[in-house]
Amino acid sequence: MRCLLYRSWCLSLRFLVTAWCLLAAAWANAAPGPVLDAAATGASPTPLTAWFELLEDPKGTLTLEQVRSPEYRARFIPSRDSGEALNFGITPSTWWLRLRLANGSSTGVERLLEVAYARLSHLNFYAPEAGGHVRTIETGTTAPFESRGYLNRNFVFPVILPPQTEQTLYLRVASTTAFIVPARLWEPTAFHAYERSDYTVQAWYFGMAAAMVLFNLLLFVRLKDWLYLQYVGFALSMAFALAAQNGLVKEAFRLESALWSDVCTSFGYSFALASGMLFLRRMVETRRLLPRLEPWLQGFIAFFLISPLLFLVTGQALIKAAALTYLLAMVTLMGVAIYAAWRRQRSAYFFLAAFALLGLGAVTNALRAMGQVPSNVFTANAMQFGSALEMILLALALADRFNQMRREKAIMQAELLATQKALIDTLKDNELRLEARVTERTAALETANHRLRALSRTDGLTAIANRRRFDEVLANEWARSQRTGEPLALAMLDIDWFKAYNDHYGHLAGDDCLRTVAGVLANCAVRSTDLVARYGGEEFTIVAPGTTAAQMQALALEVQQALAALALPHPTTPSGCVTLSAGVAAHIAQAGETPESLVAAADQALYQAKATGRNRVVLA
Ligand code: GH3
Ligand code: MG
Ligand code: MG
Repeated sequence: MRCLLYRSWCLSLRFLVTAWCLLAAAWANAAPGPVLDAAATGASPTPLTAWFELLEDPKGTLTLEQVRSPEYRARFIPSRDSGEALNFGITPSTWWLRLRLANGSSTGVERLLEVAYARLSHLNFYAPEAGGHVRTIETGTTAPFESRGYLNRNFVFPVILPPQTEQTLYLRVASTTAFIVPARLWEPTAFHAYERSDYTVQAWYFGMAAAMVLFNLLLFVRLKDWLYLQYVGFALSMAFALAAQNGLVKEAFRLESALWSDVCTSFGYSFALASGMLFLRRMVETRRLLPRLEPWLQGFIAFFLISPLLFLVTGQALIKAAALTYLLAMVTLMGVAIYAAWRRQRSAYFFLAAFALLGLGAVTNALRAMGQVPSNVFTANAMQFGSALEMILLALALADRFNQMRREKAIMQAELLATQKALIDTLKDNELRLEARVTERTAALETANHRLRALSRTDGLTAIANRRRFDEVLANEWARSQRTGEPLALAMLDIDWFKAYNDHYGHLAGDDCLRTVAGVLANCAVRSTDLVARYGGEEFTIVAPGTTAAQMQALALEVQQALAALALPHPTTPSGCVTLSAGVAAHIAQAGETPESLVAAADQALYQAKATGRNRVVLA
């Protein structure tokens, strides 16, 4: 991304820089080239950008002899660039940089010339010495790491100036990646101190990245959430891209091929963008939030996953198109994050802050390159700091999401519990209501049964006991008589000439008469143990437990008198009133006897009463 920003900066600034250079050159009016007093440079490094004189070699065919020849010597123009680096963006030309150093002191001076951009494909250093010998170091990413005169992630060339001498150094630079030459002249001890702190910063950054990667990898293994793996992918490829960008991949793996050295950075940034997009997609739920953007995002992701293979085939040929795609993807990412933040997506705030920090790193880097901020370990590694803070913020976003999910789960569980409780309450309530209804119904049924039982034992016409009840009571009392040895009395009563009554008054009047007679019987047999029943037709019966035959006879007579007292008219009878005949029997039930014998005896007595003139009581 640092490279990208360089590229975008340089694309826009190249024109300005060139224009400014031309203006400066015109202003200088072809003054003789500047000479840097190397002995005067002290503890802090001297930026060399302004001290360079430049010669463009569009075909890249010029040799050192040629550029030193009078023909080309005059064509060098002073850079007049006060920035931290010469930055021509992506240029097919080869550039010759000439630097004049002087040592006016009486002692020899040793210096280190550092070019702090690790991705230059070809970088040749020429130091013509006394006696015509030229000390040459031919290096760059295309050359083996060991080709460097001094082993460092960047390019460092030792410079030796004998006392009272002047030396003209040449750098030949050609690069398939951006042409960026941040050159500085160091006093060796100062450089060694700087180098230590520089590698310490790198170690801190990669140590932190490794910890983040491992930790989130463990989280992925434990939680099985792909988001953590996407984060791991992002952090890993980001760290790898920066390592490649900073020359650490080349240094660590001693990559011989320039292709690999170049492609490593593209691999890193491509995978960082792919995994970063995957990560953002899941975190802010773009599928829900921006469904129409989904195909684009997926297209980007697919492109960034495949594009490194493309670089393998095409080398750096498509680097400008790729840079544009990177820029487009970053703008898209930023847009998505801003939109999601606007829609109050929590994770989006973290993303925006993370992007901002990374952006701050990139801007600091660019400002340093332009000489707008002082160059030190912090500004020089601003991208690393930005990236580290970004990783931490995104990890915080993950933790926040985890927390959020836990909170939502707790709420959902509580809701579920409440629903469950409500359901159980409803069920319980229903059960209670059902129980109450069942009790109610059972009670109603019992009442109905009771009434039905009573009805089934009651005579419908006269409302006194019917024949079934008579049979039951008789059987019970018979059994009781057997147990207690008390007599059981029975009277059979039959209305006299009732057919004639019906014939005379009609059946409805007959029914009324039957009801009246039943009432008379019920009024007379007042003992609670007595039972008055309709035996059938116009025949009635009285069952009286613990009653002798004489007592029963008296009761029958009482009934007869009560009926007579009513004097119900019955014109077709000798008495002119409704009368009845009764047969009375009493018996102490014995084992082996049946109640039918008592009925038969009473019936026999009734038959005699009828036969002997009716309206009388006969004792069996
Ligand atoms: P007796 O003096 O010999 O008993 O003569 P009776 O006419 O009373 O005897 P019978 O057995 O010949 O007639 C009984 C009559 O009772 C026949 C029937 O018309 C009448 N009867 C029986 N059940 C009912 C009833 O529920 N309602 C009415 N209105 N009449 C009934
Ligand atoms: Mg009869
Ligand atoms: Mg009769």
